[in-house]
Amino acid sequence: MGFNCILGQERLKENLKKALEKKQLVHAYLLEGQRGLGKKKIAYQLAKGICCRGEGKRPCNRCISCKKLEHGNHPEIQWLQEEGSIKIEAIRQMQKNLQMKPYEGSQKVYIICDADKMTLQAQNALLKTLEEPPEYATMILLTANATSLLPTIVSRCQRMKLLPVTMEKMQKYLVKEKSVDIEEAKVIAAFSNGVVGKALQLLEDEAFKNRRKEIIRITRDIIDKNTIQLLERVQFFNDEKLHIDEILEILMGWYRDVLIYKDTEKKDYIINIDEIEEILYQSNKLPLSHIKEMLFIIDRTKDNFRSNVNYQLNIEVMILDLKQKAKF
Ligand SMILES: [Zn+2]
Repeated sequence: MGFNCILGQERLKENLKKALEKKQLVHAYLLEGQRGLGKKKIAYQLAKGICCRGEGKRPCNRCISCKKLEHGNHPEIQWLQEEGSIKIEAIRQMQKNLQMKPYEGSQKVYIICDADKMTLQAQNALLKTLEEPPEYATMILLTANATSLLPTIVSRCQRMKLLPVTMEKMQKYLVKEKSVDIEEAKVIAAFSNGVVGKALQLLEDEAFKNRRKEIIRITRDIIDKNTIQLLERVQFFNDEKLHIDEILEILMGWYRDVLIYKDTEKKDYIINIDEIEEILYQSNKLPLSHIKEMLFIIDRTKDNFRSNVNYQLNIEVMILDLKQKAKF
């Protein structure tokens, strides 16, 4: 499997593969990127490669070190993962372990998950190891937020950024590797923002799927129902208050699709492809200029939430304004 089991991150993977093959490695790496992009998977492969006894392409997946790790009992690769903050005691313990030399010719790798959760004291303690690491030691720090780390820590690491993958790549991955049908893959890929962890979570998330269906029904009601009936739908938004950011994203995506279809009559760029009949209906009903204004209304609603306006009022105004654009 090796690095190929990680979606996207081509450049980063290529750089690491080359470095492992040529044994041009450094003592500290900092893997940055939002949750769900695969930092742990990269760290795992990097650690495996560093400890691998093979020559050429590493990890070789055949040597004793690779086999040990695959069986989950590699004594020289340690993960530091804490529920809350990472305290100085944890770093000291790690440093104590680090002083014990590994067996002849082998390496030690420490992976610190959520490194930004280290307290200031913990970071200062770690700095000493980063300044003078034993020649057999490698530290891999993982973080979604490098700005919370001391600049002196960051500057001693080789920084590597993980990036969201393209929608196309995500779709292909879901279809090929997860046996998702193409229509669903398109929807999930669009809402994953290029984060594979998020895509996998959405795939299992029935509540997300139901919310999306309900929102699409509401967009239909905006056309078909009168204002009084429509205001009853505010209850849905109240019940789903915790998910309002996602709901507004779904609404934006929806009217974006309606707009694209209205403008181009092409299905290629439609996200909500499983609801194409509904998109046809709505794009037929709504004038182009109104759809654009509906997008502005949702965008404004988002902005309003950022400035702490009353939740229900903001939703009601949005619905009434959307209805205004769907009256004929
Ligand atoms: Zn190996």
